[in-house]
Amino acid sequence: MSIENTQLRCNTPIVYMGMEQGNKLYIKRDDLVPYSFGGNKARKGVLFFEEIEKGGYDCVVTYGSSHSNHCRIISNMAAARGLPCFIIGPSEVADSTFNSKFMKLFGADIKTVPINEVHDTIKEKIEELRNIGKKPFFIPGGGHGNIGTEAYVRCYEEIREYEMQMGVKFSYIFFASGTGTTQAGLICGQIKNHDDRQIVGISIARKNPRGRNIVIDSIKEYMPGISDDEIQKNTLFVDNYIGDGYGAECKEIREVIKDAMIRFGLPLDSTYTGKAFLGMKKYIDKERISGSHVLFIHTGGTPLFFDDFRKM
Ligand SMILES: *Cc1c(COP(=O)(O)O)cnc(C)c1O
Repeated sequence: MSIENTQLRCNTPIVYMGMEQGNKLYIKRDDLVPYSFGGNKARKGVLFFEEIEKGGYDCVVTYGSSHSNHCRIISNMAAARGLPCFIIGPSEVADSTFNSKFMKLFGADIKTVPINEVHDTIKEKIEELRNIGKKPFFIPGGGHGNIGTEAYVRCYEEIREYEMQMGVKFSYIFFASGTGTTQAGLICGQIKNHDDRQIVGISIARKNPRGRNIVIDSIKEYMPGISDDEIQKNTLFVDNYIGDGYGAECKEIREVIKDAMIRFGLPLDSTYTGKAFLGMKKYIDKERISGSHVLFIHTGGTPLFFDDFRKM
């Protein structure tokens, strides 16, 4: 029996938050995907584990730091099925967090190496497992790849369904963009449906052109044959609000996190959703967007909110 099958359609709520900066602000609560504090990694993880079950794999190998929401989710889903989970992480980011405590709780086998050795270490681990007769399934960091993209094509369909039911149309969709799979999925959904709107990924780390090109590669991988024009036109990857994690920007993000908690009861974090929420606000100001329906996708990471909260 698999509980996950019943969660296939995550169908997270979309909540109206009121007028903000002259627009009607809505939030899609993907942090409420009903598994292990939710988030986009849970939405993707469900589909990865369908592959794992179909293919009869008997262990999982993945990548991520001690802050990784992805590794929390994957190690939870593996533990629930009794599958060993091997995590390779960078020794540069290995401090104790709520996510890393969860990985330990789920019995993940965590190995940290300097970041430049990660690639080879993953290869060696997979070979080592095969050599002892295991059948490992490798999940790319952050749930990157077509399976992860598919998860957000489905999310896009949920957004369309909401629009049809409620008679609204979101002119803008904002969210935190990292490895780009979430954004690629949303854009593939948009292209499939020929929808006219702006899907704005707020980069949390990567600069352009690299960050945007990774989104574009994911779109091409999922929808081979789609015209380059169409992809170029639809891919908005904003890298102005990354910050360096220190100083004035850090303070600004902290203020946004406090404000969102006080006014909306909404937990944001300083790595992903807080940065994206602040980036969205600045983008709306800068582009003078008003009178629109704006959707923010809360991509999860509640344990990271508590890491931040402890330091506030
Ligand atoms: C991983 C993550 C993202 C970025 O998603 P990508 O699909 O990698 O772009 C955004 N928000 C949260 C909370 C995440 O954990």
